[in-house]
Amino acid sequence: MIIGPHISIAKSYTDAVKNAISIKANTFQFFTRNPRGGKAKELDLKDIETASKLMKENNFGPLLAHAPYTMNLASENVNVATFAKIAFADDLDRLEKLPCSLYNFHPGSHVGLGVDEGIKRIIDAINEVLTGKETTTILLETMSGKGSEIGRTFEELEQIIEGINFNEKIGVCLDTCHVYSAGYDIVNNLDEVVNEFDRIIGLDRLKAIHLNDSKTPFNSNKDRHEKIGDGTIGLETIVKIINHPKLSHLPFFLETPNENDGYKKEIEILKEKKNE
Ligand code: FE
Ligand code: FE
Ligand code: ZN
Repeated sequence: MIIGPHISIAKSYTDAVKNAISIKANTFQFFTRNPRGGKAKELDLKDIETASKLMKENNFGPLLAHAPYTMNLASENVNVATFAKIAFADDLDRLEKLPCSLYNFHPGSHVGLGVDEGIKRIIDAINEVLTGKETTTILLETMSGKGSEIGRTFEELEQIIEGINFNEKIGVCLDTCHVYSAGYDIVNNLDEVVNEFDRIIGLDRLKAIHLNDSKTPFNSNKDRHEKIGDGTIGLETIVKIINHPKLSHLPFFLETPNENDGYKKEIEILKEKKNE
């Protein structure tokens, strides 16, 4: 099973890999830069080389890089949109040097422009940046639909994917907390939700799972993650997800409100509940 925690920003990739190993994880997610924006730190190629070697020796799955929350490709504000495109391009460029093959971002918020106009802007921005030579797989995250977030439905994500010129490198990261909040009932109808994903987007596009419980009720359109088993989704459903024949091979990333010890405990419980 490929599973790991979310760790803010990696100051040293080698230390991040060592830390993952210490809590029995074999991957992790990290922010490419300050999630509220700002400049990315200079890469230390020696550190990356050591980290890559350690990852190989310990059979790591792909790492997942997460774009900053402030990166809004749908924005009408020129400064926000320009920062988004620069950050997106710069992240993709840096990721070519990292032992990492997945890059996840929130599609964007239309802030009053309407979903269709927001989607159009996201597509245009991505088409401006992508060259088709990227080796990283770029993932759109399923969103809860809070505020004017785009990506609340599988249809919205599919519309974006369809508009992207080089879309063979585009995939989706399914966040369990977000889809439940968005109105996909994974607690009572997991198979139906998986089948709907397949029908609308195609399961071949699904590349990662953000495995989170939720603090808020079904269809609340809120985005509040909870520890595994303590929320409205519950341990039973989370266990169904990690053992689901169409999902079990995917890398699972915990974005639960935990420090290292809490993540370690969750990984231990989930590994115990995983049928191998
Ligand atoms: Fe996210
Ligand atoms: Fe997430
Ligand atoms: Zn979230």
